[in-house]
This record gives sequence, C-alpha cells and structure tokens, in this order.
Amino acid sequence: MADKHKILIVEDDKYIINFISMSLKKEDYDYVIAKTCGEANALFYANRPDMIILDLGLPDGDGIEIIKNVREISKIPIIVVSARQEEEEKIQALDLGADDYITKPFSPNELVARVKAHLNRYIRLTRKRIDVNEYIEYPGLKIDKSARRVFVNEEERFFT
Ligand code: CA
Repeated sequence: MADKHKILIVEDDKYIINFISMSLKKEDYDYVIAKTCGEANALFYANRPDMIILDLGLPDGDGIEIIKNVREISKIPIIVVSARQEEEEKIQALDLGADDYITKPFSPNELVARVKAHLNRYIRLTRKRIDVNEYIEYPGLKIDKSARRVFVNEEERFFT
C-alpha cells in the first residue's frame, strides 16, 4: 500500500496513546508517536505527516506552540485532543489554525470519523489546487501553466 496516510500523534499519556494508535491501526493509517514538544517538532520534520493529533498539555511545554510552528510552513489538518475544558484554550487553538478540537474522553469511532473527514477534505483541497494551477482547459485548447505550453486541438503552438 503506497498511499497510506501518516499521522503524527503528540501525546504523553500512555493510555491515550494506546487508545489513539489502536483506533488508527484498525483503519490502516500509519502513525508516529511524540511524547514531548521537542519530539513532536523533530518527528514533524523527519516524517512529513499528513495530519497531527495533538495533546495540549505536554511535559516540556504547550501544544499550542506546536500549532504555531507547524502553521508557519504547513496546512495539514491538526486535531487537538485535550482533557481541558476551558473554552478560551479551545478558541486559542482554533484561532491559531487547529482544524478541530476533541475533548477526552471520546470514542474511537468519533476520533476516526474526524480523522477521515479532515484528511479527505485536505486531500481534495490540495488536489484541486494542483489542477487549477497547472492546467486551463477549453474545448480544443489546453494551457499548461507550469510548463508554459499551449495546445490547440492537441497540437502545440508557440507564442512569445
Ligand atoms: Ca497530556
């Protein structure tokens, strides 16, 4: 399976790690686990995950910092998982670019449903962007923007 999606789990609670990883494994997702902010940053760059499931309370800092760092360079979906109920923190996480927020305790089905929904939306968005950017097509006319080539009825035409 070449097209497995890789998810970065950032969580320091063993029980929750097992719970999340088992839920993802069942759905055939690949995952890597970080237990601290430091590990999360290292694994993010090393693995280029398609999504992050993020706990906010980490031993060496706040998961909020990870959202900030990731959003500077990437639009991958981020789902925040937290035991904290404070509305303010939820809003801050979403403001900084988290896509969703799920409060512990939650069911594996709920988690997997959200993972699927966000991954699918993200994949659709990135595919659409590529299509729109690279080709413009009309009947009998095709413009390949990235290669700067124009085809009329499948024949290439040259312009200055
Ligand atoms: Ca925690």
